[in-house]
Amino acid sequence: MTATPLVRRHAAALAPDELPAYLYDLPLLRAHAAAVRAALPGRVELYYAAKANPEPALLAALRGAVDGYEVSSGGESAHVAAAVPGAALAFGGPGKTPAEIAEAVRLGVHRWHVESEQELYRLADALARTPGAVVDVLLRVNLPVGAGPLDSAALAMGGRPTPFGLDPERADACAALLAGPLGRQLRLRGTHAHLASGLRAPAQLEVAERVVDWSVRFARRHRLPLEEVNVGGGMAVDYADPADRFDWTAFGTGLERLLGRHPGLTLRIEPGRALTAYCGWYATEVLDVKHSHGEDFAVVRGGTHHLRTPATRGHDQPFEVLPVAGWKHPWPRPAVTTGRATLAGQLCTPKDVLASRAPAAGLRGGDRVLFGMAGAYAWNISHHEFLMHPRPGFHFLDGTAGATG
Ligand SMILES: *Cc1c(COP(=O)(O)O)cnc(C)c1O
Repeated sequence: MTATPLVRRHAAALAPDELPAYLYDLPLLRAHAAAVRAALPGRVELYYAAKANPEPALLAALRGAVDGYEVSSGGESAHVAAAVPGAALAFGGPGKTPAEIAEAVRLGVHRWHVESEQELYRLADALARTPGAVVDVLLRVNLPVGAGPLDSAALAMGGRPTPFGLDPERADACAALLAGPLGRQLRLRGTHAHLASGLRAPAQLEVAERVVDWSVRFARRHRLPLEEVNVGGGMAVDYADPADRFDWTAFGTGLERLLGRHPGLTLRIEPGRALTAYCGWYATEVLDVKHSHGEDFAVVRGGTHHLRTPATRGHDQPFEVLPVAGWKHPWPRPAVTTGRATLAGQLCTPKDVLASRAPAAGLRGGDRVLFGMAGAYAWNISHHEFLMHPRPGFHFLDGTAGATG
């Protein structure tokens, strides 16, 4: 994964004590999001799943390309509402508390993804204290889409027993409730499904078709107009092959075909990882190179307490080396001699590994390393407090006025 010139320049200019640092290329993010938007038909709304990376600068950079943001907690609702004032929010996630619900009602959340009957009652209860308020609801369903499309998923949130969403017959029960007095303040607009993460375009399309087919039958059964179906996120990102990107063009074409069969329907998608993964880098330097029982280990400043992604997913984080010419010390400079190295962090656990036995010929102490694909589920899913190392720097590069943060 080669860094952009903007990122490389900035990473080379930082002092050692300013490392590690997260560097974000905002023009790259804007261009990528615009390309995704352009590949989608007009009747597909694009939401960004904020949990992938809620940095305000990224939320703001996406604003021009997305129709809204998917939030999964009270904290995210308040945070996104403050970072991108006035943006449409879709509120999902299991286990919404009464306080989160009341606050999200106050914020005027655009769509509620209702995960259970309990939650429907809770939402109705909150609304009863705000007479006249009406909210728009999608029922989050956990559909048995069948074997096949979900087989390749990295994570499955549906199609099997999970705490997410409603089983089909419970969705029927919710529709019946919404046809009664609850329907006065809760408007049923359609369905939502986020069944898996890590699907490539053909599998994503197959899932979307099955979700829409099921939703059409559901709406017919309850004599509802089906206005919207949110088919979720989970578009694949391949850490082993950064150049192998989700095929947005094929996906957009397939969705266009699907919409052609359903005039009047609006589709919505809510990717997280596939929007922001490529715009972030974790920059650091090699503190030490050690030869241990026949293998080389390069110990870098920082580690998985800042970038947990490779440890949680079990992959090697792609990286490139920025060689640093000078060595100011009177003692010998350590270097990789076997051609390969395991890039480990500063934590006292063998799990603190960013890349294993990776090609690293000539890597030396003092060289800089840029880990790519660090723009999603990176800093914000990591266990920052473990071992009490300093936090990384954050640099939001905009290409013209330099960096902020
Ligand atoms: C996490 C999540 C997403 C985004 O998933 P990605 O794999 O980042 O695209 C979308 N919708 C829901 C409901 C989620 O929980």
